[in-house]
Amino acid sequence: MSADPSPRFAVEVRRSARRSRTVSAYREGDRTIVLIPARMSEAEEQRWVGVMLDKLAAQESKRALGDDDLTERATQLSGQYFDGRAKPASVRWVTNQNTRWGSCTPSEGSIRLSHRLQGMPEYVIDYVLLHELAHLLVPGHGARFWQLLEAYPRTERARGYLEGVVAADRLPHLPKAREQ
Ligand SMILES: [Zn+2]
Repeated sequence: MSADPSPRFAVEVRRSARRSRTVSAYREGDRTIVLIPARMSEAEEQRWVGVMLDKLAAQESKRALGDDDLTERATQLSGQYFDGRAKPASVRWVTNQNTRWGSCTPSEGSIRLSHRLQGMPEYVIDYVLLHELAHLLVPGHGARFWQLLEAYPRTERARGYLEGVVAADRLPHLPKAREQ
């Protein structure tokens, strides 16, 4: 069971006899409405409310972080962890990068992040940004490179998260949960 990532929204569950299988959710003012089939059990209701709240939050964080926000975030992170020595000129999302989470061109100060990171936790996106920022200062993955990243307290956790995502991608696909 996941915690409500958006506690500012009160949740209202509406049961509908017309719904037989699908669950959906949307924001209405300061409330979140979750529509579920009338026959769903209490336990299933709780589980689905968690799933749908996570989903809405992920969609919203995806919309919230545009390229301008990314560049600003990278500049902030550089100031916080690298004394501002890494100077990103541009940071943008790209959809043509499926085998790497991020890449950079040090001579231009440009950083690209894979769109696959969208909707992932903020600390993971921050880690990938810091990783590419560190490459603006140090090429390759030698000791000096990882020394830079030690300043960020969530490096190990973020690397573990991303490794988990890669491992899960290789698993046979489970039947999709029913949702709309
Ligand atoms: Zn790297």
